Amino acid sequence: MIREEDRMRDIFIAGNWKMNLSCEAAMQYARDFWPPEEKGLITAVAVPFTMLESLEEGLEGSSLLVFAQNMHYEDSGAFTGEISASMLKELGTDGVILGHSERRQYFGETDEAVLLKAKKAVSSGLIPIVCVGETLEERDAGRHFERVESQVRSLFTGLDPEEAEKVTVAYEPIWAIGTGRTASSDQAQEMCAFIRKTVRDIHPGAADKVLIQYGGSVKASNIADIMSQPDIDGALVGGASLDPEGFADIVRRAAEAKGLRIKGRQGR
Ligand code: PEP
Repeated sequence: MIREEDRMRDIFIAGNWKMNLSCEAAMQYARDFWPPEEKGLITAVAVPFTMLESLEEGLEGSSLLVFAQNMHYEDSGAFTGEISASMLKELGTDGVILGHSERRQYFGETDEAVLLKAKKAVSSGLIPIVCVGETLEERDAGRHFERVESQVRSLFTGLDPEEAEKVTVAYEPIWAIGTGRTASSDQAQEMCAFIRKTVRDIHPGAADKVLIQYGGSVKASNIADIMSQPDIDGALVGGASLDPEGFADIVRRAAEAKGLRIKGRQGR
C-alpha cells in the first residue's frame, strides 16, 4: 500500500463498456453505481454513443464521468458513421478513449490518427485516455518496449507540453485484454515507468503530471496489487466494469491501495 502523503497524482479508474448494455441498463447502472466523492479520485465509464445523453442525465449530481469510446478528429464533414468532439461536448461528454487496441486492430486506427484525435480532444475540453500496448508476439520476441515506445513517442512528440499533461495513457498489453490473463504487477509497473520516462524525454515538465493506467483483465482480486505500484495511477477496466457492484469494489480497493480511505458509504 502507498501512503496517501506519498501519492503524487490523482487516482483514475475508468470502465470501458465496449459494445455492451442498453440505454435502459445504463440508467439502472447510474442508479446502482454511485462513486465515493473523494478528492483525488476520478471515476468514469466509457459507453456506446447511444447511451451518452441519457447517462449524463441519469448521473446528475454524481461525480462519475461519462466518456465515449472513440471520436473523429475533424469538426464536421463527409465522414459517414463518425462523431466529432463538438458533438460529444454537446451531449455533456467528459472524455474519450482513443486508440484502444480493438480500434487499432479491427478499424485500422493509426498512431497518426490517434495523435490528431488527442489534440482535438484536448482543445475541445475532453479528457483523452490514449491506449498503448504490445501484442503477445511482440512481448515473446522481447520487442514490447520498442513497440510501446514508438506509440508513446508518436503521440507525445506531436503534443505541446500543455496538451501533454492533459492526456491519460492506458498501458494495455493486448494479450491481457479480455483474456483473463493479467500482466503481473511488476510487468505493469516496469512498462508504466518506461512510459513515464519516455514522456519525460519529450516533455520533462509533463511527465510527473500525466496519469498512467493499467488495463487488461483487471478485477477486484488483482486491483490492489496493481495499484500498489508507484507509476500506476489507475486502471482501465473492461469486462469487470459491466457489473456496478463489482466496479464499485474495484474503485474502493484501488483507492485504498493508494492510501485513500473511503469515508462515506458508496451508493446513493
Ligand atoms: C479494455 O477493454 O480496455 C480491457 C482492458 O478489457 P478487460 O478488462 O475485459 O480485459
